[in-house]
Amino acid sequence: MLPYSGINVNATLKIQLILIFCVCIFVIYISVNHSFNISKIADSTISESPASLAPGISSCSSRYELPEITSLLSPLSGTDEGIFDILRLIGELTDCTRCSVYEVQVTPKVVKRKFFWAKSGADGGKDVFHNSNMKMFPWIFSNIKNKKSIYVHDIESVKEETPDIKLLQTQVNNSFVVMPLLDKSDVFGFIFIEDSQKIVSLEKEPYDLIFLSEILRLAIVQKKFLDEISLFKNLINRSNDYIIVIDRNTSKVIDVNETLCAHTGYSKSEFISMESESLMDIVGNFWSGAFFETCGSSYLDVDSSFKAKDGTKTPVEINVTFIAHDESEYVLAVARNIVERKEREMLLQKIRDRVELALNGADLGMWDWDVATDELVFNARWAEMLGYHAANLPPNFKAIVKMIHEQERDEVISVFRSIKQQSPFFEEEFRINTRNNESKWLLVRGKATEFDGEGKVSRLTGTAMDITERKLSEDHLKQYADKLQRSNEMKELFTDILRHDLLNPAGAIKGYTELLLEIENNERKKTMLERIQKSDDKLIDMIDTAAKFAKLESQEELEFSVMDLGDLLCNVTESLRPMFESKKMEVIMRFSGAHNSSVNHIVEEVFANFLTNAVKYSSENTSIFIDIFDDSGMWKVAVSDQGEGIADADKPYVFDRFKRVTKKGVKGTGLGLAIVKRIAELHKGDVGVENNPDGKGSRFWIMLKKA
Ligand code: ADP
Repeated sequence: MLPYSGINVNATLKIQLILIFCVCIFVIYISVNHSFNISKIADSTISESPASLAPGISSCSSRYELPEITSLLSPLSGTDEGIFDILRLIGELTDCTRCSVYEVQVTPKVVKRKFFWAKSGADGGKDVFHNSNMKMFPWIFSNIKNKKSIYVHDIESVKEETPDIKLLQTQVNNSFVVMPLLDKSDVFGFIFIEDSQKIVSLEKEPYDLIFLSEILRLAIVQKKFLDEISLFKNLINRSNDYIIVIDRNTSKVIDVNETLCAHTGYSKSEFISMESESLMDIVGNFWSGAFFETCGSSYLDVDSSFKAKDGTKTPVEINVTFIAHDESEYVLAVARNIVERKEREMLLQKIRDRVELALNGADLGMWDWDVATDELVFNARWAEMLGYHAANLPPNFKAIVKMIHEQERDEVISVFRSIKQQSPFFEEEFRINTRNNESKWLLVRGKATEFDGEGKVSRLTGTAMDITERKLSEDHLKQYADKLQRSNEMKELFTDILRHDLLNPAGAIKGYTELLLEIENNERKKTMLERIQKSDDKLIDMIDTAAKFAKLESQEELEFSVMDLGDLLCNVTESLRPMFESKKMEVIMRFSGAHNSSVNHIVEEVFANFLTNAVKYSSENTSIFIDIFDDSGMWKVAVSDQGEGIADADKPYVFDRFKRVTKKGVKGTGLGLAIVKRIAELHKGDVGVENNPDGKGSRFWIMLKKA
């Protein structure tokens, strides 16, 4: 017997015992009396007799000989044909028109005709009880329930007014017999015999009918049992899981399902004849005594594998049950193919690894907090930030809160408390005292990912970044900015000193020197006074330029208005006319029309500087040319001279502060072009120098936006 659960092992044994019992009873009676007699318990019209065979047997005059009984028993293989054969015998015995077997189904609670025989020539008749509910036949079913047979000789003469009698009177010709069918003590159906010609004699001596009905009952029970087995066999064979049963004592396979055979490529007979070593090679040693000793009557092996005939291995999860039965021990294994699960797990692991890599790449700690249980899940980097090894960090948020610097703790708690469904994101920077008593700055960002029924946060997920270095840099930067601020203030103070405190005495020197020059007649003293005057002029120029530069340096932006660059150039040129005349120089404007640009008046300083330098660094009787070009959507104002020019190596530096190329014979501070550059910057423009394209000398230019 297979120890499969659900298979009614006892039922088979019982059938066998019943068969043996029946055969013995009949053999004994046939050999002793050659006849049966069953006591009559009925009136002339309707009689009810017990359906069970044994209690009513008292004497016998059977029409069946032993070989016939044996042949009757042979159909007990429980086939439809066998059952029909017995039904035919009942039909012949009772000389009836029709003989049917009805089964009472439990769900749905209806009666169904399962087997049917009709006398040759007779029509099929009506399926009287077809799909009817028990309630529709109260009289008949109350008898069946009480396990009593019913003999009705003349349907018309039945006086009962029950609905079933009324119905049967319209459906059945004359007489009928109903015999209940039992499995153990439960009624599972009944035999319905219509219009028997021998109903009177059968009722008097019903033993043959009872005998045949008993044989029929056994055949049906056996068929039901075989159907059940075949259903289970089918289910087991078609199960997605691999099922294997092993006798633990012999280590031999007793049974395997088709799924296992199909998957491994071994047939059932190959499995059954397999030596235990080969079997172990294929399915592992899950039935070994060691497991039984340690795991008890069942265990689950979640990480095993089955090897197919072609050598391929399939990961399986085996559920093993040890079963003791009939002094034998069996091992039932139900294994599940977990290839897909493993693949999914691997995919998940890959995704996790990638996320972890990305988090590592970004140097991020990851945490996930179940607010209700205070359970905290985190990655190794998060633990490391707090000075822990992943295995040692307390996995709850309360412990983390304690580590937050007390100056920021309340703020962090209130931020967490303020997270709502409408604003689930948060970001907070705070210090934490690590396990090693280090103070670290963390930037924690996250989102509430789950809420309870009342809308309260139940889960928060986020990242953490160690921003200690950034915070230190910020501190340094702040200190530096403070320093710069202080030095800027110093510069402004110095500029003020330049402008007022130095310029005023220099101006006084200038005035007194001029007065002295007017009244002084001594030539030597005059020459000395003139030198003082020159030096003082130079000093005033220097103070003026330096103050201007300092002011422009600290200025962030200028106010602009639309002006014609040509007009500005004419104004500046006009104001510098005495200078040109002193060196007999000519200024030629090579542009016409309006050249509107959004500029500040200070741009005149640029033109003045270009023109002053053109005079300063050119010989007498040379010319200065002023052009305005349209260059890439901007105005390019260029001042070209015929002076000494600037070497290519020096060109990149002439706009840098204090980088005068040569001091020879020239007055100046070296700040002029630096001021030009700054003014150009404030105008979001550009400046440059190139060789005068028309010949000797240089060309200084500034680019200004068109308006
Ligand atoms: P400064 O003229 O007061 O020395 P600038 O900043 O105006 O200072 O000029 C920087 C230097 O660029 C000058 O010293 C000079 O060597 C050179 N430079 C400027 N303009 C010209 C020019 N038109 N021709 C030749 N060299 C020039």
